[in-house]
Amino acid sequence: MDELRKDPTRGQWVLIRPKGAWVPDAPCRYCPGAEHLTGSEIAAYRKDGSLANAPGWTVRVVPEADAYFRIEWELVREGVGMFDMITPRGASELIVESPNHDDTLATMDPDQIEGVLWMYRDRLLDLKRDGQIRDILINRHHKKPGVPPHHPYSRVTAIPIVFDETRRELYQAREYYQYKRRCLYCDMLRQEIAAEERVAKLMPGFAALVPYASRTPGETWIVPRQHGCSFEDALTAETGRDLARLLSSYFRTLARAFGDPGYELVLHTAPNLRSRILQGDWATIRDDYHWHIEIVVHPERANTVGGIFINETPPEQVASELRRAFDSP
Ligand SMILES: [Zn+2]
Ligand SMILES: [Zn+2]
Repeated sequence: MDELRKDPTRGQWVLIRPKGAWVPDAPCRYCPGAEHLTGSEIAAYRKDGSLANAPGWTVRVVPEADAYFRIEWELVREGVGMFDMITPRGASELIVESPNHDDTLATMDPDQIEGVLWMYRDRLLDLKRDGQIRDILINRHHKKPGVPPHHPYSRVTAIPIVFDETRRELYQAREYYQYKRRCLYCDMLRQEIAAEERVAKLMPGFAALVPYASRTPGETWIVPRQHGCSFEDALTAETGRDLARLLSSYFRTLARAFGDPGYELVLHTAPNLRSRILQGDWATIRDDYHWHIEIVVHPERANTVGGIFINETPPEQVASELRRAFDSP
């Protein structure tokens, strides 16, 4: 049985699981016509009249074949002597972003990307109805080293604890808010927009920034200019369209001017506020946390010494290169 175990010396959770059988992915099980190979679909946007688990979809969500987290498992939290253990009850899903096998975020048109964003929202809203799910990560990789090219998808991972990175981020945002009574991200946006040097692209609803302390060259954050703690509540016809356009032009720029590098995109949104365990958990989260998207280019090239990232390309230089590339045809 798989287990989430906590390392009490680091306060860090580890998933212990015996290795599952690896299933080679050829022919592609995510292409139209192969719907029967994926397990029953969880959700899909379809052209009128097309049937579930058949072609005719534009965005489709399926269970991950070798899932880390499963909804049918019972949630058990227990102490093992001095240690803490939780069963990995949750969900592992793939959002198949396009029927076209060779699509990337740089080739999909903005309408297709907008459909993917709406599906992110639908899955977050649906999974957050389950009070045992505490946190949901949506991420996607492009050209992950060691992984053969594959059909474009985003991964949804819903778990019964808060991800370590989310917890750290929530803690920092709350600390800042308790001291200043302002949102850390709103303050950062104001300052970065005024300073201009790390802004790669400014739109009415969103800013693409190269963060002040970028961990790797080319790290970019897409931050909404309107405050809100959760992506799923912030998505409207207008923000959906604007965000899809910005992502489309960002990834086209990366592909065209920066040699189409590999990247990881992660959606940072509030955890499941229904799953509070302690009274007072996240009491000010609606004011102190600000959803956003982080994109790390070549995450595998991150260079660290004792946990400190070493970045040899100043963020200001990356921002200026991105700015120029965004604006050139
Ligand atoms: Zn395919
Ligand atoms: Zn804010």
